[in-house]
Amino acid sequence: MDIIITAPHSGCIRGSQGRMCDLRAEYAATRIGEYMQKRLPTAHISVAYSDVVRADIDLNRAPARYTKWRQQILESIDASVAVDRKVLVLDIHSFPDTSKSFGYMEDGTVPSVVLLDFPGIRSNYEPPPFVRVLEASLANDIIVTSLLSGADAFLWEFNENPMRSTNQVIDTVAESMQTYALRISIET
Ligand SMILES: [Zn+2]
Repeated sequence: MDIIITAPHSGCIRGSQGRMCDLRAEYAATRIGEYMQKRLPTAHISVAYSDVVRADIDLNRAPARYTKWRQQILESIDASVAVDRKVLVLDIHSFPDTSKSFGYMEDGTVPSVVLLDFPGIRSNYEPPPFVRVLEASLANDIIVTSLLSGADAFLWEFNENPMRSTNQVIDTVAESMQTYALRISIET
């Protein structure tokens, strides 16, 4: 089992004005990687942080496919799929704690975690109850190319307010991915 954690928007310029990056993506990606590695010691887990800022190139869009960063991810998937190893890609993002980011929940709250997913892509995963599931866009190029390459792939968005996406919330998502990773590695 190979688990590739990507954080394409984790590159931040300190001191710049405005929100140029996913402020909590690096933290969440690191925590999820460590959580899963501890519990899946034989899995090969890697975390790919951004090496550019989003304003220069958006690593999650199609024009970035031929960057070295994206090519390394795809080559890694191809190499594993070629020898029948299961690959799980977790693409990690974060969003500002405002109602505009992903809209209100029906109860008027802003979500702590959003899963951007394609409907019907899998039937054997139920996210934790606090996760808001929204339809992914074909513009989410890391997910699209990972799926096309034979990996399973999830796009997670964490609220940038640590009071909402608490360590416990991040760990619960990681635990659900750990359970899922075990399941798909056993089912083959
Ligand atoms: Zn992002």
